[in-house]
Amino acid sequence: MSEIVLEVENLSCGYNGIPVIEGLDLSVAAGEVVSVLGANGAGKTTTLLAFAGLLPPMSGTIRALGASVDHRAPHSVARRGVRLVPDDRGLFPSMTVREHLRLACRKPDHEREKAVLDRFPALAGLRSRAVGLLSGGEQQMLAIAVALLASPRLLMVDEMSLGLAPMVVDRILPSLRELAQEEGIAVLLVEQHVDLALAVSDRALVLGRGKVLLQGDARELAADRDRLESAYFGTVGAEPADA
Ligand code: ATP
Repeated sequence: MSEIVLEVENLSCGYNGIPVIEGLDLSVAAGEVVSVLGANGAGKTTTLLAFAGLLPPMSGTIRALGASVDHRAPHSVARRGVRLVPDDRGLFPSMTVREHLRLACRKPDHEREKAVLDRFPALAGLRSRAVGLLSGGEQQMLAIAVALLASPRLLMVDEMSLGLAPMVVDRILPSLRELAQEEGIAVLLVEQHVDLALAVSDRALVLGRGKVLLQGDARELAADRDRLESAYFGTVGAEPADA
């Protein structure tokens, strides 16, 4: 049994005292890829922000890599190995690729940089280019590469596919699956491309109406189209999530 990297119990979180998500339970093991799905406004980003220590929980507990996630010190959560690639990618348009790669590590680690760039060879020839001149796909690869340079144990990627052609998404998403398999990183994905996300995930959960409406094995969910769609769109037929 792989090490549990993220353990969430009865989590409620939201804004200004109003919960967006209530009673969320989740555990993610090293090497697992889990997709968090749901319609716009379902609370997917809110959930990732809480896991990263960037949003205080209203109640419940979040443990990552054996310690409580302390929202008063998100930097210590990050230092422990939790990395969030936000949906705006968190890059600086006027800085070059090289500058981003350099800033990502406290000390230069050429071996790690090589290993990361081997996963995204398209970036290798772009080191001198300003990020604002990269394509959306190249920017997304860089955002993931920057996160990977810190050798995370839990990598969360919010809306990786935002603004990207499905063909580009289809090229990048499988690399996250490889990371999980080859480096034992636990990967949490928030995705709008449900089919592509399920194809690279072990498990998935669908959020809606502030709750987990459906969760289970990714392949089984992909095969049960009606149940998946009714949970996703919050229409009839969504049964309470499996324990
Ligand atoms: P999307 O796919 O549209 O990004 P999401 O599932 O990621 O949706 P969230 O961004 O987590 O959803 O938003 C969940 C709810 O919380 C929405 O109703 C949103 O308007 C609200 N919300 C998000 N950020 C804030 C904030 N900073 N202050 C108040 N409400 C917020």
